[in-house]
Amino acid sequence: MFLKDPKFLGFYDLAMGETGMKALEEKILAEGIVSQGNVLKVSSFLNHQIDVPFMQQVGQEFYRLFKDERVDKILTIEASGIGVACLTAVCFDVPVVFAKKSKSKNLTNDCYTAQIASFTHGTTHEVIVEKRFIQPGERILVVDDFLAVGNALAGLIQLIEDAGAEVVGAGIVIEKAWQEGGKRIRDRGIRVESLARIQEMTPEKGVIFCDD
Ligand code: 5GP
Repeated sequence: MFLKDPKFLGFYDLAMGETGMKALEEKILAEGIVSQGNVLKVSSFLNHQIDVPFMQQVGQEFYRLFKDERVDKILTIEASGIGVACLTAVCFDVPVVFAKKSKSKNLTNDCYTAQIASFTHGTTHEVIVEKRFIQPGERILVVDDFLAVGNALAGLIQLIEDAGAEVVGAGIVIEKAWQEGGKRIRDRGIRVESLARIQEMTPEKGVIFCDD
């Protein structure tokens, strides 16, 4: 597949990897809006409108970071994770499964379930994945748009573990590094790669990235 062509990858290494995610940081600074309640809106390229060529570079960067691992499948959560998960999956040539927010309580035994408290909405919902879509022994990469307190990621990891599958790691587009999610998941020995790590943000000061 052409996306795996080393020359093609080299192009993206320059655009994303070697410059320390500069392109993503610049995009966040140019287009992100810091809202009240510690929420960053990136609706122009990630959460509402999707800048596909740009997000393709993000997917390519996740591929560069995890390409030495065996990845059988990518798991994300609806809705905002689906776009970036698909653009990552193209590079790995694997399917995407997205955990669905379940609307009914009458679940069958055919699903794995997890409870996830939403940081942005202040509600808890149940997410489900049909058992046939995560097989024991599969190696699964989790991809999501944001990491804040880590509930979404912990829920997805639980689904994988309940299935007897293996977590390769997590690719996160934007980590709000002052919140506990990154530490919480990394402390469990799980590899978390975040492409932009925000140290601090306020509507007045805007977004300040971590130095590392
Ligand atoms: P966590 O479960 O880590 O607290 O939050 C992760 C989930 O909440 C992500 O899937 C994302 O959809 C949403 N989220 C958390 N913080 C933000 C934010 O600042 N902006 C946006 N757009 N979504 C966020």
